[in-house]
Amino acid sequence: VKDDRVDRTPVRWIRLNLVKCADQIDDVIAELKRKFKNEVNDWRDIVPGSLYRDVYVPLLFGVHPTDKITSHELYKTGKIIIQDRASCFPAHILHPTGDDVVIDACAAPGNKTTHVASYMFAKEEPTSVKIHAFEKDPERAKTLRTMIKTAGVDQGIDVHVGDFTKLAKPDIFPNVTGFILDPSCSGSGIFGRQMIDDINTNKRDDSTTVEQQPEEITDVNLKTRLSKLSSFQFEIVKYAMSFPSAKKLVYSTCSIHPEENERIVIDLLLDAKVQEWGWKVRQRSGVMPDWPRRGLVEEFDDVFRDQKEALSLAESCIRVMPKEDGGIGFFAVCFERD
Ligand code: SAM
Repeated sequence: VKDDRVDRTPVRWIRLNLVKCADQIDDVIAELKRKFKNEVNDWRDIVPGSLYRDVYVPLLFGVHPTDKITSHELYKTGKIIIQDRASCFPAHILHPTGDDVVIDACAAPGNKTTHVASYMFAKEEPTSVKIHAFEKDPERAKTLRTMIKTAGVDQGIDVHVGDFTKLAKPDIFPNVTGFILDPSCSGSGIFGRQMIDDINTNKRDDSTTVEQQPEEITDVNLKTRLSKLSSFQFEIVKYAMSFPSAKKLVYSTCSIHPEENERIVIDLLLDAKVQEWGWKVRQRSGVMPDWPRRGLVEEFDDVFRDQKEALSLAESCIRVMPKEDGGIGFFAVCFERD
């Protein structure tokens, strides 16, 4: 049964940026509670003046978009960052520590890069580079640098401008342990114009905007577009999997199409090289197990005869429905190896 609160409850999600406020977490939360006096236990009950604390991503809060958070001191000082809830899943799933070295292969405008930094540099910023952020579009790379600066990271992140698959050779980065892979996609999970990227940076990834799509999306041109996008998505993830020390990789899209989601997972699992390199999908127990909406089992059923295996693979994936799940549509999965 459709919950009728969903359509009338837009949410703006804000996360604490631990690079800036790891030693003031209680103070920042107290300040949020002072500003938003009406605490609610369900994001669907958010109205102007409410504060909801998320149960899936630590230190993430939901407020009403009409509450002007961007003029607040916490926002201006970079202690809080606006980021859609689902967009926070990849860094949370990757859960990097100060010992990791992470590549964000498709980084601009930098929401996930800076979220990864929030996990890695909460205690202290390292003296060496721990995150390599690649972005092929020079204009968007400028936005990425601005966001990194606002997030308060001075030396832990290197920005590389260019195509990740050409610039990043596995032997140049032999120590990389983790990957965030959030490539350009159809953006079919994005709705409306209240986009997070817009708010933080005034810039968007044009290749992912719904508005960029032709006025009339026919079945034929959608199919062609999805086919091009999915080849690119498969190749870029496979390339990342060739890095010798990589142990965990989170793949995500803001698409609702299985071609860009479950079917990428299937093609990777069936690829001989990916198998040779030892990559597997991390089970549901290690991928936000309480998040209720999982991958589409029918996609795996088609390929894996063993019903149990198909179900387990589907359960390992995360899906987020646009609006219904409190934000943009999204997909995430984690690959790992010993
Ligand atoms: N992860 C970003 C965030 O959370 O803020 C959003 C990434 S957006 C979906 C995809 C980005 O990947 C775009 O900025 C696009 O220009 C970039 N991109 C696409 N292909 C690339 C490649 N081969 N190498 C590096 N960057 C690429």
